Amino acid sequence: MIDFKNAEKIILENTKVLNLMSIKTKSSLNYVLGENIYAPIDLPPFNNSAMDGYAVKVRDLEKVDASKNVVLEVIDEVQAGNVSKKTIKYMQAIKIMTGAKLPKGADGVVILENVKEFMKGKKKYIQINTKINKWQNIRFKGEDVKKGSLVIPCGRIIRPQEIAILAAMGIENINVIRRPNIGILCTGSELIDLNKKLSDGKIYNSNGYALYSLILKYNGIPFDFGFVNDNKNEIHKKINLALNFKPRIDIFIVSGGVSVGDYDFVKEILLKKGLKLKFHKVAIKPGKPLLFGILNDILIFGVPGNPAATFTSFENFIAPVILKMQGKEKLHHPLVKAKLIHPITKRDGRVHFIRGITKANNGYFITTPSGGQSSGMLKSLVDGNSLIIFPAETKKLKKGERVFVKLIDKLKNGEIL
Ligand code: AMP
Ligand code: MG
Repeated sequence: MIDFKNAEKIILENTKVLNLMSIKTKSSLNYVLGENIYAPIDLPPFNNSAMDGYAVKVRDLEKVDASKNVVLEVIDEVQAGNVSKKTIKYMQAIKIMTGAKLPKGADGVVILENVKEFMKGKKKYIQINTKINKWQNIRFKGEDVKKGSLVIPCGRIIRPQEIAILAAMGIENINVIRRPNIGILCTGSELIDLNKKLSDGKIYNSNGYALYSLILKYNGIPFDFGFVNDNKNEIHKKINLALNFKPRIDIFIVSGGVSVGDYDFVKEILLKKGLKLKFHKVAIKPGKPLLFGILNDILIFGVPGNPAATFTSFENFIAPVILKMQGKEKLHHPLVKAKLIHPITKRDGRVHFIRGITKANNGYFITTPSGGQSSGMLKSLVDGNSLIIFPAETKKLKKGERVFVKLIDKLKNGEIL
């Protein structure tokens, strides 16, 4: 049996960042960028108007003062997406919309609100009563991003703003780090599917659902191989299916059957298939029988079947693997110090992960167990948002004591999000 820290270390040492793949920019949210993005064009690509108004020669407005307006002849109109063929000359203007290319001869835009339009015969004129500065209301080619410059560095997690700028530069595909394909297999002759009526001695396969959604929580790609009876032949067949599956899986999680019971065959079968066992059993609760090894380059996790053990094993050990494979740098849940509201005791020398509810309270955290802590119990996970860390060597945590808490879910205003 190894300790928690060691188990964590061995697992992450054996986890590699996955290779790159090309993806549509539109679908790249939350992926890690696998290349530097240099601007293929200037942004904006041309000088254009920042406002709806009139493109003018600023020099022509010099005579404007409190008592005197200037009148300019309007020679054209240009909307966004079009280009005026005309050149503005002395005492002329072109009506322009936001985003339209600045016409030749113009060096400023007077906003629509500051002009009065009128007709004289067939000709259109504007009367202007405010001066503007040279280049006022003009957006310059390349002022946001210069062609050839580094826009997004490799390793950045793609957010909507990254997608926006990629699109603005016309970049349709990018290289990102692939997400892991993760196989799930549940073992247990007691398991039945959710569409079946519960019969005596049977339980619903909740771990299959827990694992599937936990994989999605960390942006992995789940492949559910269902569940099998505790029968060597059946388990063997399903494991073969998973290991040879296309697409190739990167992580394989087997729930149940890794303990010391008469029907716990998973370890034996995996070893026969050539599993390089890294460890079996960790000094933690829940989840002591955790198994980890490598087979055909696939990381294999045997997680104990007790629902809280499956769940906490995943949050503690598998979530960081999924994140590391995707090239993420922050692999661990936030660890905060919190004041314990109710005392807790234990007898063994393992690290306990106490399902708890943690809240922000006037600038510090308070925490308390969220219900029954048996490894088979799920409700305290549902009522909680965190794991209180009860250190191996400690037997009693007193009321008011400061303890470390792993926040497995986000807090909002101190409550579960
Ligand atoms: P095992 O790890 O196979 O010894 O199972 C330990 C406990 O977890 C037993 O009470 C099982 O019935 C329960 N269990 C195993 N697999 C599942 C599952 N997929 N869903 C819910 N409970 C399970
Ligand atoms: Mg079992």
